[in-house]
Amino acid sequence: LSAADLIEPHRICVCVRKRPLNKQELMKKEIDVVSVPGNGTLLVHEPKQKVDLTKYLDNQVFHFDYSFDDSATNELVYKFTAKPLVQSIFEGGVATCFAYGQTGSGKTHTMGGDFTGRQQNSSKGIYALAAQDVFAHLNHRKFANLDLSVYVTFFEIYNGKVYDLLNKKTKLRVLEDDRQQVQVVGLEEVYVSTTEEVIKILQTGSACRTSGQTSANANSSRSHAVLQIVLRRNDRATTLHGKFSLVDLAGNERGTDVNSYDRSTLVETAEINRSLLALKECIRSLGMNSDHIPFRMSTLTKVLRDSFIGEKSRTCMIAMVSPGMASCDYTMNTLRYADRGNDF
Ligand code: ADP
Ligand code: MG
Repeated sequence: LSAADLIEPHRICVCVRKRPLNKQELMKKEIDVVSVPGNGTLLVHEPKQKVDLTKYLDNQVFHFDYSFDDSATNELVYKFTAKPLVQSIFEGGVATCFAYGQTGSGKTHTMGGDFTGRQQNSSKGIYALAAQDVFAHLNHRKFANLDLSVYVTFFEIYNGKVYDLLNKKTKLRVLEDDRQQVQVVGLEEVYVSTTEEVIKILQTGSACRTSGQTSANANSSRSHAVLQIVLRRNDRATTLHGKFSLVDLAGNERGTDVNSYDRSTLVETAEINRSLLALKECIRSLGMNSDHIPFRMSTLTKVLRDSFIGEKSRTCMIAMVSPGMASCDYTMNTLRYADRGNDF
């Protein structure tokens, strides 16, 4: 992919990213069943058996705006997915980028990257790359006269409840007023002026994500994490100018592959399924310019209500897939959810 491949931005962009086989999978001699021939297509070579037990490969083709193979870097993925959306928030828009897929498929790698210290570009994820671009735009003469400031929020949604990752995982209430404006009451919004500050905040928040005392069962793969980059005008009311929500979604695997079948796990899974279904419905409504957005279906879509309404809303979904044969069923699930030819 090169700059010339960048397609004219539209309201919804759906992409797929295949991660490489990892060490364990290579050791187990796991077979790679996913290939990316280019041009936004992705193939799954699903091994099947006929009634007479002869084996064959059932090749399934899926279509996306872009498809990234296992050699793609975070920077490349960023350039074609979230980067065009940064421009749109400076133009007063609401942008949203989702990482979707089974646990272990690369959502956090793509969004968070590796912010454990080394600051090379290669270790940055979409969160940090977007922040970096926001500050570059801020200082650009084209937008300098707007007089804007940048703020961030970072929270997680677990079992339909919102927890503030920038404030000791405090549980927050979500309220809707009579003008259908949704508000997360008391959500910390921190002023930031450099990418390094954003990375610091992400480190602190991510640590809080896995070690908080509330929601004892929550591990990060069972909750949605949302980083919002908010642009406000430097007027007395610090009026909202644009907003970019970057979402590391909960793992989309069904309950059947969870080892424990206790009640809380079932409730958890039901809630995740419900929110992912709601998300798909809302994105579909956005694509159809529909007046009816079913955002009340889940806390996730409620909190992101602004993402699905208005002329200036833009959304990008990155579906992550594992390449191994053992993950084939989950991979097919993910691809069916996100396939451009299907619903979006
Ligand atoms: P998820 O957040 O979807 O559960 P992770 O992002 O944690 O998955 O990825 C699982 C493992 O695979 C991590 O060790 C991660 O570093 C690695 N990984 C994921 N995507 C890639 C990639 N594109 N290139 C190299 N390693 C990757
Ligand atoms: Mg993760």
